[in-house]
Amino acid sequence: MPYRPQIKNVTKAGSNDKDGLYEFIVNLADGTDCRMFYSRNPEWKLTNVSRLGKTPCPICRKDFICKCMEKFSADFDNQMKEREWLSKAAAE
Ligand SMILES: [Zn+2]
Repeated sequence: MPYRPQIKNVTKAGSNDKDGLYEFIVNLADGTDCRMFYSRNPEWKLTNVSRLGKTPCPICRKDFICKCMEKFSADFDNQMKEREWLSKAAAE
């Protein structure tokens, strides 16, 4: 079965309101944690996603930095917007 990440929770880890830059920690349903960077001007844009090295990658099984999650950028971005994770977490 192809891997399909499912966002379970989003927490704001940092922001620079002046520049419209946000950092989020995103917990996925399978236990994987990711860090995402967003730029909000002129509109929300996912600029970087990387897996946090706490648990092995669900795709390649590496327990160090890999780039697998980048392939799901569009999917993550859709979930962040459609399920309003982005607006809720940014308002925290
Ligand atoms: Zn990987």
